[in-house]
Amino acid sequence: MNEQSKNIKFCVNCGEKINFDAKFCPKCGAKQPIERNSGSAVVLKNPGVAAVLSFFIPGLGQIYNGEIILGFWFLIFQSLLLYLAFFQGYKFVLLISIVLWILGIVDAYRAAESINRKLGTKKNLKSLIENH
Ligand SMILES: [Zn+2]
Repeated sequence: MNEQSKNIKFCVNCGEKINFDAKFCPKCGAKQPIERNSGSAVVLKNPGVAAVLSFFIPGLGQIYNGEIILGFWFLIFQSLLLYLAFFQGYKFVLLISIVLWILGIVDAYRAAESINRKLGTKKNLKSLIENH
């Protein structure tokens, strides 16, 4: 990556090389999404971090991946199951809780990987365009 490539991005509509700060494409006029991290356009997720977060707090890995609603569902459902198991005496619920906990960890890991794959594909596409 050279210095110049940091200051350009690609139009979401037509793929034209445009100024990184441009709000609209000069070629087709399409509105460009606002880049949250102006330093680096692509932010990869760490699958290990996502899994560890879900290991300690169910749903936190999903929230880290940007799946906020899914994350909160994991957290709420898990809290409910633990409440039933420990305060209401439904011990069998603990089994469901453990399964859900493991599923949450695996899901967080896989979701982070799939996010990276999508971002990676986009990145490859960009470098492909740049080389032509
Ligand atoms: Zn355009």
